[in-house]
Amino acid sequence: MQKMVKQLLAWYQENQRKLPWRQDKNPYHVWVSEIMLQQTRVEAVKAYYKRFFESLPDISSLAAVEDDILMKLWQGLGYYNRARNLKKAAQTIIEEYQGKFPDSYEEILKLSGIGAYTAGAIASISFGIRVPAVDGNVYRIYTRLTECGEDISKTGVQKNVREKVAELVPAENPGDFNQALMDLGAEICLPNGEPHCMECPVREFCMAEKNGTVLKYPYKSPKKERRLEEKTVFIFEYEGKYLLQKRAEKGLLAGLWEFPAEEGCLTVEEVLEKVKAFCGEVEELELLGKAKHIFSHIEWRMIGYMVRLKKVRPEILADFTFATKEELREKYSIPNAYAAYLKQVI
Ligand code: SF4
Repeated sequence: MQKMVKQLLAWYQENQRKLPWRQDKNPYHVWVSEIMLQQTRVEAVKAYYKRFFESLPDISSLAAVEDDILMKLWQGLGYYNRARNLKKAAQTIIEEYQGKFPDSYEEILKLSGIGAYTAGAIASISFGIRVPAVDGNVYRIYTRLTECGEDISKTGVQKNVREKVAELVPAENPGDFNQALMDLGAEICLPNGEPHCMECPVREFCMAEKNGTVLKYPYKSPKKERRLEEKTVFIFEYEGKYLLQKRAEKGLLAGLWEFPAEEGCLTVEEVLEKVKAFCGEVEELELLGKAKHIFSHIEWRMIGYMVRLKKVRPEILADFTFATKEELREKYSIPNAYAAYLKQVI
């Protein structure tokens, strides 16, 4: 095993990816990059990463940022709770650690939104602490190396793998070891399709490669089907502005701005009826077409209508927000789920 770790580290020295967040070991930078990378591809994260630090160069600016500005910086990355937790954790660091990032694995793990993987990445990369950073990439590599056929979606199995990987982390350069596994998972031991076993630095230790069983791993029990939800989305336009409402502070897409919607896919007649009852006189109704958005457990199937209003009830003007095209682009964070309709407006 020692030999395998050595080979992996040597490969990493030669082949590591040049990434913006690897230019230094500042824990703030490592932390934000890891959170962004949780659900987003490396190439897509690069632009967000740059923009984020231009606006929020240090932990105190993140702790004090207005929610709408933070959401705007995060728009397009999805899973907005990640951004909310970043801010919450930054406030904890200011209040409880005098603005200095905590430097023990256990303290890092206590911060909002930071799980074992992220705490391991920050602790090992920024502070040289000997802990693993085990995510889906590492589960995949480990189960292939050892031909572990247990269901990797089970927490007990994951815990076992984490413990085994923890034993492999070297005392010297633990951060390099964890980053080597990240790079191996991203470039060589790829999911689904064909991993590049011929280029793999740990090939000689890999049971699955030896036995031709690579694509059997990692094993996961079949997922539950997603729940389908049908929606009719209304883009109300009045005097060059568009009606927005804020989602509830809890649940899916909590606290973000959205176009109003009704359950079900409504016909033109049904839409006209709803609109009349809701807000005012319609000048023009335009069908914007169908769109869908897939969340982890839910799939939205949508139909959209542009509703140009001639007159609007005063209570609607008072109760809702009307945004210009520029504000839709610059100010309000509209979830990606509405991207197909937002694109037709701005
Ligand atoms: S030999 Fe192939 S399957 Fe085994 S760890 Fe390397 S890339 Fe993954």
